[in-house]
Amino acid sequence: EHTEGAHFIKHIVTKDLSEGSYDGIITRFPPEPNGYLHIGHAKSIVLNFELADEFNGKTHLRFDDTNPLKEDKEYVDAIRKDIEWLGYDWEELRFASDYFETMYEQAVHLIKQGLAYVEDLSQEEIREYRGSLTEPGRESASRSRSVEENLDLFARMREGEFGNGEKTLRAKIDMSSPNINLRDPVIYRISHTEHHHTGDKWCIYPMYSFAHPLEDVIEGVTHSICTLEFEDQRPLYDWVVENSSLTSTPKQIEFARLNLTNTVMSKRKLKQLVDEKLVSGWDDPRMPTISGMRRRGFTPESIKRFCREIGVSKADNLVDYRMLEHFLREDLKLKAPRTMGILDPLKVVITNYPEDEVEWLPAEINPENEEMGMREIPFSREIYIEKSDFMENPPKKYFRLFPGNEVRIKHAYFIKCHDVIKDENGEVVEIHCTYDVETKSGSGFEGRKVKGTLHYVEATQAIPAEFRIYDSLIADDAKGDDFLDHVNTDSLTVMQGFVEPNMADVEGGDKFQFFRHGYFNVDPVDSTKDKLVFNRIVELKSSFKL
Ligand code: ATP
Ligand code: MG
Ligand code: MG
Repeated sequence: EHTEGAHFIKHIVTKDLSEGSYDGIITRFPPEPNGYLHIGHAKSIVLNFELADEFNGKTHLRFDDTNPLKEDKEYVDAIRKDIEWLGYDWEELRFASDYFETMYEQAVHLIKQGLAYVEDLSQEEIREYRGSLTEPGRESASRSRSVEENLDLFARMREGEFGNGEKTLRAKIDMSSPNINLRDPVIYRISHTEHHHTGDKWCIYPMYSFAHPLEDVIEGVTHSICTLEFEDQRPLYDWVVENSSLTSTPKQIEFARLNLTNTVMSKRKLKQLVDEKLVSGWDDPRMPTISGMRRRGFTPESIKRFCREIGVSKADNLVDYRMLEHFLREDLKLKAPRTMGILDPLKVVITNYPEDEVEWLPAEINPENEEMGMREIPFSREIYIEKSDFMENPPKKYFRLFPGNEVRIKHAYFIKCHDVIKDENGEVVEIHCTYDVETKSGSGFEGRKVKGTLHYVEATQAIPAEFRIYDSLIADDAKGDDFLDHVNTDSLTVMQGFVEPNMADVEGGDKFQFFRHGYFNVDPVDSTKDKLVFNRIVELKSSFKL
């Protein structure tokens, strides 16, 4: 029984299988290789792969590569890598362009049945003849061509006798249909363009609305899941399936696409951000691409969990980006080691601490997951704290360090400030404190209380590190084509600070929770042994409630 808590597509599949409409299910994820995958695609990937899995079916990865002008092998490779990283195995890897011969035969089959004709009108004329919602379309002179003439012209289109746009092949359906998609849609166009997979073999290419149903038919796909904007195309999809000479009968099912706040989610727009150098590339950690999110530090588990929880429905919706962050925190809470990093350092000299002495203090690796054990961190006469953790003239209720005040240093001792060292500009460059040996962390000291706890990094062994702090790429919900005006040019802040010495061997992709600062990922592209780079994935706290 697959009905409990099931979304509407599961209900359809359950019914189809129990009624014997299909023996088993085959789904497909059909990206066009014209850009990198984004989080919206992840929703479709999770849906297709997990649906097939639940019903013991199969999923194909099919590159819908029928438009050579915009497609590239770089995208094919990136898409494969992203799906593998998410953790899905496709049963078959297919390229729609491998079916060009079959598609051509099916077009000929339509012509022979009197269901397709070669059109002389230009693209603009076709559009003009098509009419509108209130006005029926007009039939063009080409519509009455004989089968023989159409067969001859179509063969000559394939041979390369005509230039781009000189002729098209149109399905002959109904110029007065209330559904404009059925007013003799173009199903083949001429494009003298080299294809990344088929080279210069073809100069005519099938249109999406003809190619896609045939691809599903050829592969024996049973449930062809797509987004809502294709709902009006379903009658055309069914028409192509019905009138092909092939026997399988896939069904198209539409669901609402994922929309997220504070970002844009179309490959075309994301490509604009890349091309206009508003980001460093498709994998810029601010991008909603799978590769950007991977580099930022999102885990496959957090993305998949998010995709499952947002559900599958027919109603368009806008999901809060913070929900994605919520699942990231949930995933990393128990997994990520705790550590301390100083993003904006201020040196503290502990004047009563013995010179040249370093002691090693025990610290939990993850207080929420004791199994992760302990680490040792150094403490000595010189440490770094955050600049923002000290104020010379603090306002009321400032519980951090200021002259005369005592605070706790995490895992170490209480320290008290007695001197402030400034440079010639009056800028605080160093502060002097004393520590109280009695107050050592873990000693059970109860003598007095302090209100502030500061994190630190011991200065002599500190490892320099770069921290990249991100903000939303899109300042507000810019959905239209003016989204470039809403790009947040302040969305990256780079800071130079320090991390604990036990971070010397971190590798790209390692994730940590930095005390008070949030979750960070070692940047897999720019971080090296000599120059550690950490990307902030997400802050620790959020006002977001699920
Ligand atoms: P884009 O407009 O970003 O290029 P697309 O729909 O043109 O997206 P395709 O490569 O054709 O991209 O999409 C592959 C699959 O991913 C399709 O089945 C499509 O419906 C699905 N998909 C794309 N965007 C979303 C989204 N935001 N939410 C859910 N599914 C999506
Ligand atoms: Mg597309
Ligand atoms: Mg699109």
